[in-house]
Amino acid sequence: MQILARCPKCDAGLPVRGDEQAAAIRCGRCGRDIPLKISDAVRSDRKVDRCPVCDGADFYGRKDFDPKVGLTVVIIGAIVSGAFYWFGRDLVAYGILAGAVLVDLVVYGRLKDLTVCYRCHTEFRGACARSAPAFDLHTADVLEQEYERRIGRR
Ligand SMILES: [Zn+2]
Ligand SMILES: [Zn+2]
Repeated sequence: MQILARCPKCDAGLPVRGDEQAAAIRCGRCGRDIPLKISDAVRSDRKVDRCPVCDGADFYGRKDFDPKVGLTVVIIGAIVSGAFYWFGRDLVAYGILAGAVLVDLVVYGRLKDLTVCYRCHTEFRGACARSAPAFDLHTADVLEQEYERRIGRR
């Protein structure tokens, strides 16, 4: 499992392997030591049950999607189809635009699932099946505040 731990102090993303043996990692940006408590289930890539950074057990799942990639495909499609439109080939133009949207959909459908910790936003990418429910704003509000109070940000 690949873990992207979030530094509680500066929010930097720190890649950690699920089978990491160290009990703590140091943030490369601000130098803070972040203790890690990797549970057995996370270590063996069975499921995400405990967050190694904040010890929380509340997660949500989302697609591992980089919006920039999707947007780029659509923009390139729009530019190319705009050029065809300019030369009076509107059918080709619409075809290309539809193709760009289609490529986006295919890419989206093949994306892997990602599990995210509600409290500290640490991300988990692994082979195990996603068990976390979809994002819930109310839960996020409550848990983020609780966590920020705990680490003294508020
Ligand atoms: Zn940091
Ligand atoms: Zn966490």
